Amino acid sequence: MTLIAMRSPSDSPMGCDNRPVLRQRGQREVFCGLTSIVWLHRKMRDAFFLVVGSRTCAHLVQSAAGVMIFAEPRFATAIMDERDLAGLADANDELDRVVTRLLERRPDIKLLFLVGSCPSEVIKLDLARAAERLSQRFLPEVRVLNYSGSGIETTFTQGEDACLAALVPQMPSEPANAGKSLLVVGALADIVEDQFRRLFENLGISTVAFLPARAASDLPAVGPNTQYLLAQPCLGDTARALDARGAKRLSAPFPLGVEGTTEWLRAASIAWDVPSDRLVETVRGPQARARQALQRHRELLAEKSIFFFPDSQLEIPIARFLARELGMNVIEVGTPYLHQQHLSNEISYLPESVRLSEGQDVEMQLDRCRSSNPDIVVCGLGLANPLEAEGLTTKWSIELLFTPIQGYDQAADLAELFARPLVRRATLEV
Ligand code: SF4
Repeated sequence: MTLIAMRSPSDSPMGCDNRPVLRQRGQREVFCGLTSIVWLHRKMRDAFFLVVGSRTCAHLVQSAAGVMIFAEPRFATAIMDERDLAGLADANDELDRVVTRLLERRPDIKLLFLVGSCPSEVIKLDLARAAERLSQRFLPEVRVLNYSGSGIETTFTQGEDACLAALVPQMPSEPANAGKSLLVVGALADIVEDQFRRLFENLGISTVAFLPARAASDLPAVGPNTQYLLAQPCLGDTARALDARGAKRLSAPFPLGVEGTTEWLRAASIAWDVPSDRLVETVRGPQARARQALQRHRELLAEKSIFFFPDSQLEIPIARFLARELGMNVIEVGTPYLHQQHLSNEISYLPESVRLSEGQDVEMQLDRCRSSNPDIVVCGLGLANPLEAEGLTTKWSIELLFTPIQGYDQAADLAELFARPLVRRATLEV
């Protein structure tokens, strides 16, 4: 180990909001959960993500991270070589050696994640036990946790869910006399987190914490007085873990676009008995600025058709925003998983004509996409190039995670992500 930086298709007509959902299982084209390390490592400044995987895993994370050059990177891959895979070397000894060397070299690391991959799962390397063993050795300086980012178990944004779910048992319990507190769950860019913090302050909601926190030592407390708002739609396991700690989820759409952000804030306002005129007063200015900024994108995007392949789990909230605030014609919204409870608000906002699909049989979905000939296709990198070659205009779904898109001030940036490919296509055609 070295350290370097089907089923056959079936349709089922059942869905939430009583609308039909096309469910298909077959070959799928999605990134694995390792991808989420790219945005998680930016958020948690004293955490380090050590993928226990193959050279393929190392290449995936490195290429997803783009051409960034780090003096002190916060992720790496412990490469399992043939000897590890053949069982000739004791992978646990090798892992301990790699971790010890890493922590000696990097005293700034306070939280180390061992991230499982397909190869570590195939040889059944018990990373939970390894994390426990290493934590005992390195606490209190460094806590070691584990989660799986393997493509066998996870897609793309599920890596974030698995990572945050691993953090929940580490959160301290609320003190006995704790008052009500709000927890915002899901990795947000710092700038977005600061904006939300100000909005909550203006609403009079002062006890607000974020998961993940920027520093390992700032892990917020949780308990029966915690009410939480999901900021990302991919956090089913994290929500379950928070519920088990006694926290209560506030049901709301996701804070994408003017409408989603307002409804998300409204859910917290209701739970905190904030008078409705205070909410109106707080959001008036940001709403007006966001609507004005959206106007020029609306001129370009209105009436344009769009087709979503399943990838990021952001598809449904973004489709709602594009349909309702920009007047786009959404043909199909595919999502890897449809969490009925977490998305019920979103689905009720989608126009009736939108086809919802869960899971994927990629060939069948490609046929549907081609026959509807949309103006924009939202998909992963693997499908984007072939579809561009066929003359379709594509948007890479991975950009939706790498760009700050939540909240009022980012609504126009979110719209621009969809306007840009159309402008590029028009420029190329001139
Ligand atoms: S975890 Fe699996 S799917 Fe992801 S890069 Fe490694 S081998 Fe590929």
